Amino acid sequence: MLVVECPSEKFLEPFVSESQFQDYQAEATDPSKIASLVVHFTPSEILKSPLYQKWMQRFPSTTCHLILNEDCSTVNSTAVHKIQHQLNLLHPQIFSLLHEKEEVKNDISSMIPNTIQACTLERYNLRPFNGIDENSALKLQPDEFIEEAMKAEGFEILLRELKYKIEEKRRHLKMEILKSSEKEYILMDCGEGTYGQILRLFGDKNEDLLLHLSVIFISHMHADHHLGLITILKERKRIFNKLERNYEKIRLIGPMNLKQWLKHYSMNFENVKSLYKFVECSSLEHDEFFNLHFENTFQCCPDLLISTVPVNHCQDAHGIIVSSKSSKWKLVYSGDTEPCNRLVIAGKDCSLLIHEATMEDDLATEAAVKRHCRTCLPRRHLYLALRQICLKLLRRIGS
Ligand SMILES: [Zn+2]
Repeated sequence: MLVVECPSEKFLEPFVSESQFQDYQAEATDPSKIASLVVHFTPSEILKSPLYQKWMQRFPSTTCHLILNEDCSTVNSTAVHKIQHQLNLLHPQIFSLLHEKEEVKNDISSMIPNTIQACTLERYNLRPFNGIDENSALKLQPDEFIEEAMKAEGFEILLRELKYKIEEKRRHLKMEILKSSEKEYILMDCGEGTYGQILRLFGDKNEDLLLHLSVIFISHMHADHHLGLITILKERKRIFNKLERNYEKIRLIGPMNLKQWLKHYSMNFENVKSLYKFVECSSLEHDEFFNLHFENTFQCCPDLLISTVPVNHCQDAHGIIVSSKSSKWKLVYSGDTEPCNRLVIAGKDCSLLIHEATMEDDLATEAAVKRHCRTCLPRRHLYLALRQICLKLLRRIGS
């Protein structure tokens, strides 16, 4: 079995000329060494090149080629799609179905025999016999998801349960996307599953979103809030390259330690420093009277005012306040925090509050130790305001 990756055009010529591969291809002197399986991590655009395909054809037709790249299906968790199908029954606009990319874009399998685009949980058996076992591959069965929801007792019970489950699945995949104008997005926090969530939520429009993403805000240095950042930066760069557009650095607002973390990553793995302009959270803190907020504007999103608020969580943790000069809305995102008066003052009269409330009401001790809010606290303070906003929103959607 061979596992190969030719990451870019630069490597193609030396890759296909590498003599060591001959031992495993059709012209091998020892036929017992011929590869039964080649796993290709090679990206789609390199796979399509005639040179690479000619290299693949040097293997006999008995060799299986398993392609594992960005063209693979985005369906990697039944639970996420199942919940969305069930919530969709409650409100199709608010809970629109996720993109379930199951078709394969490239047509390489028609040109090279025994070529398969990998699916989640698909197996390749080496012993006692060689071959793909497709029975274990993950498949979505929307009819069954819907049937299960329909059998549930009572609408309210179902709603409560599903809301809890979707929170449970989202807990380690934190991100919020704000579309601030027709062509401008802000990403607030970036947990490790962020890129996958973007693919599922936006499908083929993910490229447009990343291209027009002007600001990323990282609230604090816990892994579930920043581990997906490098993937987002790299994917965004890839799209600029693909569309042959001049790269525009993204504005990255984050804690001081994030700058250090990216510096270490660039020194030890790959250089990503050229992909962003860093702004420290603390440099955007609002003053007591919120005057500084009216100065915090960026060239990449001139209509927006952006301020940060220190919150009660870990060192250098911040919430963010974004307001629009022209449309007069104001958004507050808390990040992880205990109840925080500074955020209450700065967020007064906001149009939308996105408030972290990780712990259930009965986990008071754990919430205090980990400096999180419980679900009851933001609810108590903001129940009436949120109710009004939701009613307005639902009325607008209804009409
Ligand atoms: Zn945290």
